[in-house]
Amino acid sequence: MVQLTQFVLATAALAGAASAAPKPPPGPNVNPWTGKDRYVVQSYGKKLDQTIAAFTAQNDTLNAARTRTVAQKISTFTWVTTRDGLSLIPQAIKEARQQKKGPKKMIVGLVLYNLPDRDCSAGESAGELSSANNGLQIYKKEFVDKYAKLVSEARDLDFAIVLEPDSLGNAVTNQGVPFCANATPIYEEGIAYAISKLQYPNVHLYIDAAHGGWLGWADNLKPTAEVFGRVVAMAKKLNPMAKIRGFSTNVSNYNSFQAKVRENYTEYSPSWDESHYATSLAPYLEAEGLPSHFIIDQGRVALPGAREEWGEWCNVEPAGFGPLPGSKQNNTNVDSLVWIKPGGESDGKCGLTGAPAAGAWFDEYVQMLVKNAEPALEPTYMKKPHGPKA
Ligand code: BGC
Repeated sequence: MVQLTQFVLATAALAGAASAAPKPPPGPNVNPWTGKDRYVVQSYGKKLDQTIAAFTAQNDTLNAARTRTVAQKISTFTWVTTRDGLSLIPQAIKEARQQKKGPKKMIVGLVLYNLPDRDCSAGESAGELSSANNGLQIYKKEFVDKYAKLVSEARDLDFAIVLEPDSLGNAVTNQGVPFCANATPIYEEGIAYAISKLQYPNVHLYIDAAHGGWLGWADNLKPTAEVFGRVVAMAKKLNPMAKIRGFSTNVSNYNSFQAKVRENYTEYSPSWDESHYATSLAPYLEAEGLPSHFIIDQGRVALPGAREEWGEWCNVEPAGFGPLPGSKQNNTNVDSLVWIKPGGESDGKCGLTGAPAAGAWFDEYVQMLVKNAEPALEPTYMKKPHGPKA
């Protein structure tokens, strides 16, 4: 009875709120990934055709078949990184609808990545917008507003959106770099704006929290949570209903979810793998009134001993594809393991010799990811034509 009364009161409160503002996303205990099918990005699958061809030319039918599994069955994220790139959203929506079978809802993974003065410290992924040229205004009106409109029009799908990989990491630790110090208020305002605009019941926002080797050090945990707290508070000023689902980690990085071998360079860190990072950051997030839910990129994982320093982030080798999206795991702070950075797209002209610019295809690299996948990928021998079904 008590429960029923509470339910009725809560429902009444929600109904009241709904008439004043758009309905907020599901409450903190609803994991948006549970019971959903995941959209498989077809343009990524198409890029892997050349990897399949390369293995086939080497008479390596097993690895060709393993690559086919990635191309046909594994869900990755679509990176929307320019205003022109907004057209990838209707494309993803169309394909996700075609892939939907049965009553299960479909969840589509997107990255929102176009802040002015982007990638202020590493410099490999500078974007199209600059704060000196009205970039923040352009970002808001010509990128975020349109992004929000596109996802809000597909209420039959759910979206998990990763907000601006690495940017707030720079706000926490790279204030000694003048370009980053200058960019920080712009990053914060831009992300707060994006949060305030992307409030729909089918949209689940994850602010990027870099990775354990960057923000997971004991001294960085509190300042990190404070930056996130400040940005979400700014978003709430713009839209009192503003909420996020949680945080993404290890995007485009190489850390294990649960390391089998603890690397020497992690010796003084409580966050020596991404599961520990989530667990160490969670109480600081909660102290800021933030949700402590995570999605963790396992699209590429460094093999033990691959890196001499934790700071190595560019086309690291040897590495392999990691545990599959949605793999069973036992950390209650983790909503899901995911593959966010599409393996085979370069991190920049650095790391493994011959690497092309950030985002460009690096076939030799993805061949290595297939061979070193841990757990090994199941082979798929059946070819499937790409593109819409007849
Ligand atoms: C690049 C983007 C690319 C993304 C995913 C980033 O490092 O800057 O252009 O879309 O990686 O590969």
